[in-house]
Amino acid sequence: MVSSPHSNSHSSPPRVLLIALDGLGRSPLTYSAHTPFLSSLLSKGISFPSAHAVYPTDSAPNWGSILHGVLPEKHGLTNGDVESGKEFDENSMYPSLFKILVRRDEKEISVRKKNEKYRHKIVIDNCRYGNKKTMMTNKDKVTRNASKFITKPFICASNSRHPVCDEPIKYASFVAWAPINTGIIERSIPGAFYSPKSESLCARIRLYVKHYILKSPSYDTYVLQRVLSFLSSPDSKDIELLLVHFVDVDEQGHLYGFGSEKYLKQLRILDGQVRTLFDELEKDKWLEKMTVVITTDHGGTGTSHGEHSKDEMGSFVVVCGRGIQNKDIRSHEDEKTSKEDVRNMDCAAIVLAALGVDVPDWFDARIPKGIFE
Ligand SMILES: [Zn+2]
Repeated sequence: MVSSPHSNSHSSPPRVLLIALDGLGRSPLTYSAHTPFLSSLLSKGISFPSAHAVYPTDSAPNWGSILHGVLPEKHGLTNGDVESGKEFDENSMYPSLFKILVRRDEKEISVRKKNEKYRHKIVIDNCRYGNKKTMMTNKDKVTRNASKFITKPFICASNSRHPVCDEPIKYASFVAWAPINTGIIERSIPGAFYSPKSESLCARIRLYVKHYILKSPSYDTYVLQRVLSFLSSPDSKDIELLLVHFVDVDEQGHLYGFGSEKYLKQLRILDGQVRTLFDELEKDKWLEKMTVVITTDHGGTGTSHGEHSKDEMGSFVVVCGRGIQNKDIRSHEDEKTSKEDVRNMDCAAIVLAALGVDVPDWFDARIPKGIFE
C-alpha cells in the first residue's frame, strides 16, 4: 500500500526539510564512530548508505542535480560560474525544485483568481437580480442576502491566502555556501534565504579569520543558529520546503585531508549539530509534519574532489519523518538494484513526491524503490 506523506492521514499540508551535508561521502558508513547520530538515522526510515554522487564530484554540479533533478550536463552548473556570482537562468528548461513549486503556486493562484472572478460575477448578478424589486419574492430576498454574505468573505479569504499579497514564507534556504542561494536556486524565489554572507561585518571578519588565518572554518554554527531561530518563529509556520546546508566538514577536508583527524573531529561536531536540529524539530513536533531528506554532494580524497574515485563518488541518502515508516536497513539491502542505483540527485524526485507534486518528465532523478511504499 502506498502511504505517501501527503495522504489523508495528515491534516496539515506536506512539508520537506532537505539537509545538505557538504563533502561527507559515505562518512556515516565509513566513520560511523564519529557520526553516532547520522549513523543511527541510517537504520531508521529509509536509507541508502551506499548511494553515489554525479560526475564531476564538485559541489555546484551535485547540489545543482540534487536541487534541479537533472544531470550536470543539463543544468550546466559549475563551481566557477556560481562562485563568480552568475545567476541561474530564470527561463531554464530545468528549473529548481523551488521554481517548480512557485510555478505550481502561480497556476493555483490564476485558477483561484478565475474562480474569484466567477464568484464576483455571481454577486453582481445577484445584486442586479435584487434590483428588480418588483420581481423579487421572499425566497429571492433570502437567496440574494445569503449569497452576498457568503461570497464576500470568500473573496476576502482568497485574497488573504495570495502569497504575493501576504507573503507567507513557504520556501527557505539556509546555506553555509552562499552560491547555492545566489547561483543554483533562481533569484526570483520568494522566501527566507540566508547565508553567513548576510551576517554583520564584524561576524564576517570573524568567519574570515577563523577560516583563512586560524584554519578552523565555522560557518555551520551560524547556519544552525539562524535556522533554529527561524523554525521557532511564526515566520516558519507556512514553510513547505526548507533547505539547510552545512559546509565545515568539506572545508576541513580541503585544509587537512578527507578522513584526516581534523576532518573526523569536524564530522563529530556536525553530527552533534544535526542532532541539535532534530532535537529542536522534535520539540516542536515538526517531525510529525515534515519529511526529512538528508544527503551529501560528494566525498573526497587527499585534500580535493572532482574526479571519479570511489571515495569522491561516495554519497548517502536518508529519508525519515512524516510519511516514512521505520524500516530495517537489512531488508532494504536485499533490494540490490534499488540500493546500487540510488544517486544523491534522486533526492529531487523524493522531495517532490513527499510534497505531493508529480515528478516532471524531464527529470533524471527517480524515486528509489521502497520509498513511500
Ligand atoms: Zn569541497
